[in-house]
Amino acid sequence: MNIDKETFKEHIRLRLKRRYGKEIAEASRHDIFDAVAAASMEYILDNWMATRKAFDANPGRQMFYLSAEFLMGRALTNNLINLGILDMVKEVLTEIGHDINEIEDQEPDAGLGNGGLGRLAACFLDSLATMNLPGHGYGIRYRYGMFEQKIEHCRQIEKPDNWLEHRDPWEIKRSDLAVDVKIGGEVTLIVDEQGRERFTVKNAEIIRAIPHDMPIVGYNTKTVNTLRLWEAYSPDGFNLQLFNDMQYLRAVEKANQAEDLSRVLYPNDSGPSGKALRLKQQYFFVSASLQDILRSFKHRFGTNFTKLPDFAVVQLNDTHPVVAIPEMMRLLMDEEGLGWDESWAIVTKMFAYTNHTILAEALEKWPLDLFSSIIPRIYNIVEEIDRRHQEALKQLYPNDWERRHRMSIIADGMIHMARLAIVGGFSVNGVAALHTEILKKRELRDWYEWKPQNFNNKTNGVTQRRWLKLANPGLSALITETIGTGWETDLSKLKALEPYVEDPQFRKRFAEIKRNNKVQLAAYLQKTQGVTIDPDSIFDVQVKRLHEYKRQLLNIFHVMYLHNKLADDPTIEMPKQTFIFGAKAASGYRRAKSIISLICAEAARIDADPRVKGRLKVVFAENYRVTLAEKIIPAAEVSEQISTAGKEASGTGNMKFMMNGALTLGTMDGANVEIVQEVGRKNAFIFGLTAEEIAAVEATHSYDPHLYLGRNPALARVVHQLVDGTFGHEFQAAFKELYDSLVHGVDGSRPDSYYVLADFDAYVQAHEKVVSTYADQDTWNKMAIINVARSGIFSTDRTIAEYANDIWKIKPIAVK
Ligand SMILES: *Cc1c(COP(=O)(O)O)cnc(C)c1O
Repeated sequence: MNIDKETFKEHIRLRLKRRYGKEIAEASRHDIFDAVAAASMEYILDNWMATRKAFDANPGRQMFYLSAEFLMGRALTNNLINLGILDMVKEVLTEIGHDINEIEDQEPDAGLGNGGLGRLAACFLDSLATMNLPGHGYGIRYRYGMFEQKIEHCRQIEKPDNWLEHRDPWEIKRSDLAVDVKIGGEVTLIVDEQGRERFTVKNAEIIRAIPHDMPIVGYNTKTVNTLRLWEAYSPDGFNLQLFNDMQYLRAVEKANQAEDLSRVLYPNDSGPSGKALRLKQQYFFVSASLQDILRSFKHRFGTNFTKLPDFAVVQLNDTHPVVAIPEMMRLLMDEEGLGWDESWAIVTKMFAYTNHTILAEALEKWPLDLFSSIIPRIYNIVEEIDRRHQEALKQLYPNDWERRHRMSIIADGMIHMARLAIVGGFSVNGVAALHTEILKKRELRDWYEWKPQNFNNKTNGVTQRRWLKLANPGLSALITETIGTGWETDLSKLKALEPYVEDPQFRKRFAEIKRNNKVQLAAYLQKTQGVTIDPDSIFDVQVKRLHEYKRQLLNIFHVMYLHNKLADDPTIEMPKQTFIFGAKAASGYRRAKSIISLICAEAARIDADPRVKGRLKVVFAENYRVTLAEKIIPAAEVSEQISTAGKEASGTGNMKFMMNGALTLGTMDGANVEIVQEVGRKNAFIFGLTAEEIAAVEATHSYDPHLYLGRNPALARVVHQLVDGTFGHEFQAAFKELYDSLVHGVDGSRPDSYYVLADFDAYVQAHEKVVSTYADQDTWNKMAIINVARSGIFSTDRTIAEYANDIWKIKPIAVK
């Protein structure tokens, strides 16, 4: 985009004057951030309006991505890169006495998600806009996003994430497009003006949904798509009567309850919360979004709703928005007057469902009484969907009652949301090849046999605009200098780097860039946490949500093992290694928090031990989030992807590391399998039980952790250190529980259900291979370059192209 510096500076000047009554010289860094964002919005808004016009003029289908989470991170640098004006803005800032890095640090992360699922949604939006595809996001404008994590005395402290403390310069509030959503009440039959019987809900609580639009700026294109986030508001929440009676709390009680719906993101990555508020949140944003889609359909095409699936396809990101299926039935029948069969024929062409996990505890189920009291009309519709579904199953499997029970939407007093999604949707996809196979063969086997044509795989990806160009400017510049531009929108072009593997000059520069990134990360951790790390050590990184299946415990056990080894014999040769962790634990997940404490306690123990200090280092990087990931990943050399095989659906962190030249140390799980397919086993460090081996052990109940403890004294010693006083008294009970969970099993669960002990030996050996390979820097760098060169298929541009062709059937629309 051609924008001259003086005009841009003038936009900055005007914003500072109008919003703050200040001149440039008086403005704070935050004022400058706000003004630069506002100045870029001048250009974004032109394109945004042009995009809306182009889409309105095009009768083609549009895609709406419904997701309870969008883990967007910061927008400033991303938007400047995508507009193509980053360098110009840097110059402008220098001229007015500011540094872009300090200005970008003023922006809080939009942390409206927990982890991978929410970040995927954000990467998808970036690819959709860049590829000029008509695809928009719908979600919730959480007033408080993912909590801010502090570590105090080796404990996780959660602080509210007040990301909207200053007004968000990117969002546009669209009060004119507010819609009402009804919660609770009673279902009643009425006769409408045409004399037809219809259901309606009386005495419901009315929640107003107010949209806030965020622009999604495509890279090097005019397309600007929309992320529409709903804020909950109570139109009649304030009771002046009560206030005048000095009952101040009761006066705003109703308003507060309504506004609770968009107050806070559930900080929960796996387990179902089973909370009424969460179901209300889901219904709230889903109903508002579908009403919005219907309004826009009617505005453009009238009321021939059979055409609706030609206008809109809806992707359901996990089960959180699955209530969309019965809600669309309700809207078509109760609001638009269609019959059941007509409505069902429409609905079943509109919705596609993505499954993100096979962890049993994460499959959403709602108790019938809760569901029916919060959304009584939706409950009736789900019952009717299930009744008809049961009829169909009876025809198919007349003698298999058990199978029909397994395939019931309503069973054992619960509504099973994944089953509802499969019955009402036209597509079910997993997020990596292995994951989709496990769904088809195991978790969803009954369903796959029922409708095999509905099942498909869409391996996740990440956007190279953020995860390479923005996060790693050094490597990006080297790539462009070597193979030219174009990789920013076609990552398969990185293949052209491969011949340079044999070019010593290229390898040298590649290594210098990595080294420079390590120095920068060291400086950042020094500044923010006061920890000192050595850029001459191996940077071995595991950053992701804290979960037992991701096995941070295995990682820290290995560190403890090395610590013991060095303490026993400080004369042995061992290269310097820095183990970097970053992870938030869900607030109610006690064992995950204990693992954080263990990592932190071991870090302290190493620092206090002169025999290992300076040779081993553990850092727990606080408050892992998108912005921190952007700093850590480009500096990583070893990418720890060590989940219990079969448990990590895909992983996307693994792809970001690969793109930035870190080597994968991982199990054959999720998308690691496809990474290995690309680079070959010799360019990764693969270890551990396979998903099949684990399934076999589970089937025979033959797993015995004592076998592994008995045959490896070094492992037994590490495990014993959890309870032998090594870590003092403070975490005695917490670490004892970790010990028990491994050795005996806790609360009826089997011991070591994530196979930490079973995989320990293989993990140690894989690390030894890492260390010996690292000693030969030429070999290491060759491997790293091959990883970058072959990371092309892990762009979300590839993922989105597959969704667009196979599921959504949408085409690019040129914006003039
Ligand atoms: C990519 C990303 C994730 C997902 O990481 P996995 O290793 O795939 O679990 C989680 N959180 C943040 C902030 C991310 O950027």
